[in-house]
Amino acid sequence: MTFTSLGLSEALARAVAELGYDAPTPVQRDAIPAVLQGRDVWASARTGSGKTAAFLLPLLHSLSLSPGRAPRQVRALLLVPTRELAAQIAEAIERYGRYLPRPLKSCLAAGGVSANPQMMALRGGADLVVATPGRALDLVEQNALRLSSVETLVLDEADRLFSLGFADELTRLLALLPARRQNLLFSATFPRAVQALATQLLREPVRVQV
Ligand code: AMP
Repeated sequence: MTFTSLGLSEALARAVAELGYDAPTPVQRDAIPAVLQGRDVWASARTGSGKTAAFLLPLLHSLSLSPGRAPRQVRALLLVPTRELAAQIAEAIERYGRYLPRPLKSCLAAGGVSANPQMMALRGGADLVVATPGRALDLVEQNALRLSSVETLVLDEADRLFSLGFADELTRLLALLPARRQNLLFSATFPRAVQALATQLLREPVRVQV
């Protein structure tokens, strides 16, 4: 099993080979083809399983191939519970995307630091925004972030989004997204709140359990 046999481009396969990834992990093997097909995905995957690449690689593949409905608009919103996780994901986007023929731009929108540099960065346009829910809402309210062109929503560590108290922010953000979109939900555990969210959010999801 190779990354290209899952449907990923040579540019992405080359980037992960240089990072020392010899073969896809189980969650990558199951999730990558489903994400590439545009399906919703409901994955139970823990930190260390390779879950970040399981959603990022196919997302970068799809975004780099199609131009998007409107240039310079946000096409993928990734919501995560902490600034640290957001920073890790943003770094992974840089590493995985380095050989893409059309570079993708990502912006961080995470709390705990000044919003001004994030607002400036967003003004230049971004394909992907990696955000914590509170800061994402702040930026929307200040007209620095528009979500009307989002094609894919990723919720990473969804259980922690709830345990850290982001339920309200999440509900408000979901209401701002276009109804037609792809949804990817990754969580280590599935408490009732996450199950309810999955039922509300996901349409005929592919279940990935590793
Ligand atoms: P994650 O579960 O996304 O936090 O990833 C855990 C670690 O595994 C990260 O350091 C990744 O760089 C690494 N990793 C992800 N996919 C692979 C792979 N297919 N082969 C080797 N290492 C990987």
